[in-house]
Amino acid sequence: MVKPAQVTAVKGFHDLLPDESARWRLLEAEAFEILSSYAFEEIRLPIAEKTELFARSIGDATDIVEKEMYTFTDRGGTSITLRPEATASVVRAALEHGLIAPDRERRLFYYGPMFRRERPQKGRFRQFYQIGAEVLGRDDPVVDAEIIVLLRDLLGRVGARGVTIELNSLGDGECRPAYRERLRSFAAVRRERLCDNCQRRLERNPLRILDCKEVRCVEAMAGAPLVLDHLCVPCRDHLATVRRLLDAAGVSATINPHIVRGLDYYCRTAFEITAAGLGSQNAVGGGGRYDELVAALGGPPVAGIGFAIGVERLAMVADALTARSPRPAVVVAPLADDAWATGLTVATALRAAGHRVELAAGRRSLRALMRQADRAGARHVLIIGADELAAGRGTVRDMERKADHPLSVDLGATGGEMAAQITRL
Ligand code: AMP
Repeated sequence: MVKPAQVTAVKGFHDLLPDESARWRLLEAEAFEILSSYAFEEIRLPIAEKTELFARSIGDATDIVEKEMYTFTDRGGTSITLRPEATASVVRAALEHGLIAPDRERRLFYYGPMFRRERPQKGRFRQFYQIGAEVLGRDDPVVDAEIIVLLRDLLGRVGARGVTIELNSLGDGECRPAYRERLRSFAAVRRERLCDNCQRRLERNPLRILDCKEVRCVEAMAGAPLVLDHLCVPCRDHLATVRRLLDAAGVSATINPHIVRGLDYYCRTAFEITAAGLGSQNAVGGGGRYDELVAALGGPPVAGIGFAIGVERLAMVADALTARSPRPAVVVAPLADDAWATGLTVATALRAAGHRVELAAGRRSLRALMRQADRAGARHVLIIGADELAAGRGTVRDMERKADHPLSVDLGATGGEMAAQITRL
């Protein structure tokens, strides 16, 4: 018979194996604890949205919307997209459920997979997880600083090294249009020297050219006007206050005028946080202010700011977190078919008493069961063979000392009593 071929995972979609997912649990616990200490509440969102949501929020002229979305038409003819990021979904849900009001602050965080059809490489996947948070209803610079302090805290808590925080201002509806025009004129003169992508960006999203990593574009754009030099007074004051507050909080943030973020809806504060050990994809997280997004999605004029952290990257730099998936405390080994029912009852009773138990039944020899218990890393094995069944008392083998223990366990006892007898051995 021809052996059927194995099916492998989709390129860029990855599995998280048990030891890694144990580390992720620690990471998630740290992140959720910090977020809740900053008064964020969790929102759980669907992973698919109407395509229109992203086209309208992220912007047509962005790499994400142009090239990277997983979009399909469902059987009802609706165009649906696997979310490439979640800010738009948070705003959509907040509007849909009446969570936003102009005079009310709302802090929401989310956690889950995002989907972008990027070229996979180290630290870059097509399905990846983000932990992110959004503050809706605050336009003051204190919240910008607070969010950056939160990120610093989180990275510190998980042991990331070489953390840098880079900050920029993208201007607002007052000053950005004039700056965009200046930048467009500067780039237009150099059109022939730009890569194909940037030539396209030229008309629709010239700011993105500053973000391009192609050497020819970096060279062509050397000396380009920077938005920082063209901010209106309120934008300049906003940035100065964020910097002053960060200083006061002991956070060193450097200005990087090249942070433009990919998405159309950002204004004023934009930031990125990087850490050592990630190679060229070294951004662990980023975010910024989006004061016009809520209105652009049909809501009231409510300001917003948020961030997203890539969890794969966070896991790569989280040096303080080590975990193995937990080992069973006891392996229950019924040796004969007629001991299965007792084995199941005993395992259930031990589990109900809070113990991690593996039930190693099956028609196998004692030796094979012992090998299984050894591999599972359990400390004790509770053997229930024919003799034990007849006597109503199991035998306990101590795997560390490799010895059958003379004491035996009363199979009729409660889970708690049984566990106490076992661990007393
Ligand atoms: P963004 O939503 O593009 O601002 O990304 C925020 C963070 O998500 C980045 O700093 C990365 O840590 C992470 N991220 C973005 N895209 C990917 C990807 N394709 N694979 C893994 N992580 C990603």
